[in-house]
Amino acid sequence: MSDPMLTIVVPAFNEQEALPALHARLAPVLDGLDLRARVLYVDDGSRDDTWAVLQEIAQRDPRVSALRLARNFGKELALTAGLDRVEEGAALVLDADGQDPPELIPQFVARWREGHDVVYGRRVAREGDSWFKRATAAMFYRVINGLSQTPVPADAGDFRLVSPRALEALRGLRERQRFMKGLFAWVGFRQVEIPYRREARLAGRSKYSYWKLWNFALEGITSFSTMPLRVATYLGLSASLTAFAYGAWIVAKTLLWGENVQGWPTLMVVILFLGGVQLMALGVIGEYLGRLYLEAKQRPLYLVSEFRPAP
Ligand code: UDP
Ligand code: MG
Repeated sequence: MSDPMLTIVVPAFNEQEALPALHARLAPVLDGLDLRARVLYVDDGSRDDTWAVLQEIAQRDPRVSALRLARNFGKELALTAGLDRVEEGAALVLDADGQDPPELIPQFVARWREGHDVVYGRRVAREGDSWFKRATAAMFYRVINGLSQTPVPADAGDFRLVSPRALEALRGLRERQRFMKGLFAWVGFRQVEIPYRREARLAGRSKYSYWKLWNFALEGITSFSTMPLRVATYLGLSASLTAFAYGAWIVAKTLLWGENVQGWPTLMVVILFLGGVQLMALGVIGEYLGRLYLEAKQRPLYLVSEFRPAP
């Protein structure tokens, strides 16, 4: 690594207040690195003045380039668009809101130079996150790691450095349902974590409501595990076995003591229960089928409306 290059990729959606403050923190960090550093800001279809703010930053700092997507595609795709534009060297992903402290970048670079391919930040403290968000996040990591073949490190965000070869591998994954944390883990190579304190946002509010997070969790689980599909099989199997035993008991009972038609409550309970289980199983199949459908359409992952390269 004689003269390596590092590109900081920053996805931003409605971050006009946070961006100038972030760049003011980022620039001195880059000055202090002994490698060629670039910053690529990705405006994910912001509806505020983010793009104008980025133009201004790019004008003053020749290391900065800016990419504008045609509309809001979501963080995972904004990130993908940014990583696709990194032409050389390693990439490091940073949130635009300052929650991932840029001051840690030299540590990431040091681990990369030691020969690691994916250096990811693990949040040991999540400032500005409610206990509910922390509890649901912990539960999510437990579920996905129970189901998925690819272990997804808990509390690792998208604050990561990826080496050139890991980046190339990552770029080969063109699926539409993108759960980046999982994809980063899937490529493997030599991975190492850096524990850090996640700070509160510089400005603005989180773009993720609980409903969005729930859908994001479903995305993660369905794109890394087919276990939910198998659950239906096991449920069906255990229901059949129970039904068989119960059937045998009814036959024996009728033979021994006769039958004076009763059991409406039992019937109702069984019918409602089985109906519910069947609908749920159908829903699970539907989740996968819907994703298969989206995948099969082969639309481009994102569309770019403007690119302002570094001079
Ligand atoms: N972001 C994005 N597109 C979106 C939503 C978010 O590019 O549709 C960016 C956002 O600007 C920020 C990062 O993704 O840089 C993380 O978002 P946020 O801070 O809202 O998430 P949180 O930190 O609360 O998980
Ligand atoms: Mg944030």
